[in-house]
Amino acid sequence: MFTIPTFPKTPKSKAPKRIAVLTSGGDAPGMNAAIRAVVRTTIALGSEAMGVQRGYSGLLEGLIHPMVPSSVANIIQRGGTILRTSRCPEFMKPAGRKKAISILRHHGIEGLVVIGGDGSFRGAKLLHEESGIPVMGIPGTIDNDIPCTDDTIGFDTAVNTGVQLIDKIRDTASSHDRIFLVEVMGRHSGMIALHTGIGGGAESIIVPEVKTSVKSISESIERGIRRGKTSSIIVVAEGCQFGGVTPLSKELEKLGYSTKMAILGHTQRGGSPSSHDRLLASTLGAVSVHALLSGVKEGMVGVQGPEVRITSFKKIQGKPAELPEELLEVARNLAV
Ligand code: ADP
Repeated sequence: MFTIPTFPKTPKSKAPKRIAVLTSGGDAPGMNAAIRAVVRTTIALGSEAMGVQRGYSGLLEGLIHPMVPSSVANIIQRGGTILRTSRCPEFMKPAGRKKAISILRHHGIEGLVVIGGDGSFRGAKLLHEESGIPVMGIPGTIDNDIPCTDDTIGFDTAVNTGVQLIDKIRDTASSHDRIFLVEVMGRHSGMIALHTGIGGGAESIIVPEVKTSVKSISESIERGIRRGKTSSIIVVAEGCQFGGVTPLSKELEKLGYSTKMAILGHTQRGGSPSSHDRLLASTLGAVSVHALLSGVKEGMVGVQGPEVRITSFKKIQGKPAELPEELLEVARNLAV
């Protein structure tokens, strides 16, 4: 359950009459639930909803169309994004954004909701500053690496997928006395690895934020062997110091360990969103529209503790999301 902020009522004449939504950057399960919430809340509150295909690239191509409540029917359970997504280098240049602004104006769009990660929010911030058009961001990334929000849409689903796959790997690892290195996504962040590793009962978790050594990994394997363990699961974040499971397995081989590897990769990005991600996406989508309609000009709608909060894009940038030290300690103590 989230505590949702209330917004002052604004005269209808001042509220954006047409609100557009787009998804940008990496896709994440739950983005569809967020699109659905933006479209339906916009219409329920008396404005028009528009969808932009393929993120900022589609915006530059004018791929903008009206959306009605039935446009978002039967999508809450679907992974990916019905609006599709993209990466758009042209939008990083002032001339590209100038073109995007004139296209938004041409379509009468008076408010924009960007569902994406920190890169997408850098673009959203500039778009707002250069045009004055109100822009809200919704954190949609499996990595959960955005500052000023404890959670991002897709993270819970990705962790659940990872834990289910580790459960399966553990069955075979324990039948064959094996050391399994399981690589999970997360780019430069260890958040997916930490949560997946704790949930999957991993013997070790290697994250980019905490430097370790092959010697210390070997010591933890040996500790397990002394306690009678015949198999080990080591969860490895893709962005860790070793550069993933392949180089790490070569290092461990040099010490005489034979390992098996599993790279979960994009399986963690797909699939039907968890109920948690559907609720999060529906809530953040609805709040983004309430904010726009009550005159909020810019910012990301995130969660801090149980509260839904809006943080200015200015505060988010240049600030790395941190791995909670308490959770790292939980992981360390569980791996003894
Ligand atoms: P994510 O939003 O998942 O972090 P990216 O970092 O790839 O994904 O960013 C998505 C898109 O956002 C980029 O392709 C680009 O169009 C836009 N973007 C990213 N960084 C900037 C920036 N500094 N200025 C303007 N636009 C940006």
